[in-house]
Amino acid sequence: MKYKINEIFKSFQGEGANLGKEVIFIRFSGCNLNCEWCDTEHSKYNEMNEHDILKEVEKLNCKSIILTGGEPTIYNLFPLLFLLKKYWIGIESNGANIKAFYGKIDYIAVSPKRKMFNLKVDEIRLVNDNLNIDDMLYYEKFDIKNKFISVLEKDGYFNLKETFELLGKVNEKVKNKWRINEQYHKRLKIK
Ligand code: SF4
Repeated sequence: MKYKINEIFKSFQGEGANLGKEVIFIRFSGCNLNCEWCDTEHSKYNEMNEHDILKEVEKLNCKSIILTGGEPTIYNLFPLLFLLKKYWIGIESNGANIKAFYGKIDYIAVSPKRKMFNLKVDEIRLVNDNLNIDDMLYYEKFDIKNKFISVLEKDGYFNLKETFELLGKVNEKVKNKWRINEQYHKRLKIK
C-alpha cells in the first residue's frame, strides 16, 4: 500500500489527554476536508509503503506511535497497523471515516469539523471556531472520556478568552467536564 507521508519524527504529544507522552508521529499528507486554519503542508510528502514506514519507525526507539495528518483515515491503514502491532497506536482524525477503526486502535482522538453520529472514541477536541454551547452539548449523548475545546489561532490571535467563557458555561451543565486544549508543541516551538 502506498501512503503519502509528510514526516515521521519522535517528540512529545503536545495536546489532549496524552499530553507529554513520548511518541513517534507519522504525519500523512492529504485530507478529505479543507479547513482555512489547516497547518499541514499537504503538497509535501514522500510516497512510502508500510515496510518503508516500519524501517523509519524502528530507527526512533519508542514504543508509541500517533498517526496524524492531514487525515490518516483517507488511506487503507490496515496493512500498516498489522506491521506496527507491537506498538501502542493512537490516531488523530477529523472523524469522517473513523468508524472503521473502532476497537482496532489503542487510542482514538477526533476533532470533528462537521456534526458526527455514533461516536465511540477516547477523546474529542472541538476547535473553537465560533462554537456555541449547543455545539458542545450535542456531544454529551456519547460516552467520551476526554473532552476538550481547542483554542483557535487566527492571524496570531488566540481566542483564549472566548474559549474560557464558553468552557465555564458548558461545564455548569455537564458532569464530565470539558477542558481547554492548547497546542503546547507550538508554544514550545517543538514539532
Ligand atoms: S481536517 Fe485537519 S487536516 Fe483536514 S483540512 Fe482540516 S485541519 Fe487540515
